[in-house]
Amino acid sequence: MTPDDERLLRRAIALANQARADGHAPYGSLLAGPDGAVLVEAHNTVRADRDISAHPELKLARWAARELDPDTAAATTMFTSCQPCQMCAGAIARSGLGRVVYALSADQHDELHPGGGFPGVPQEGPALYEEARVPVDGYY
Ligand SMILES: [Zn+2]
Repeated sequence: MTPDDERLLRRAIALANQARADGHAPYGSLLAGPDGAVLVEAHNTVRADRDISAHPELKLARWAARELDPDTAAATTMFTSCQPCQMCAGAIARSGLGRVVYALSADQHDELHPGGGFPGVPQEGPALYEEARVPVDGYY
């Protein structure tokens, strides 16, 4: 971690502090270009938006996928106040970002927010392979 990384990570923590002060859940993130310039910032708005996907990391991943070409996206770094959750990690992988730097790990976060996890939802499958493969087969 470089001094510039620490500076940008501190900015993500400041966004989390500001989110909390404004009545939002305490999480903040930003996306920086290869020169360290901040491209976009976000904070958690799950409560205000009544949107379970309104995590800052997911907002930034969606922004990058929409606004950046793949080479530019791959040259960015996301700085975030907490390690991205599984939902956001999936979106980050699909967005093609180059790197993620986080402050609190998921385990450290869980120590501060015991019982904050979500129950697993049972899934059933695979099923109906011959029917389900028709729309997918040959698409790619
Ligand atoms: Zn998340």
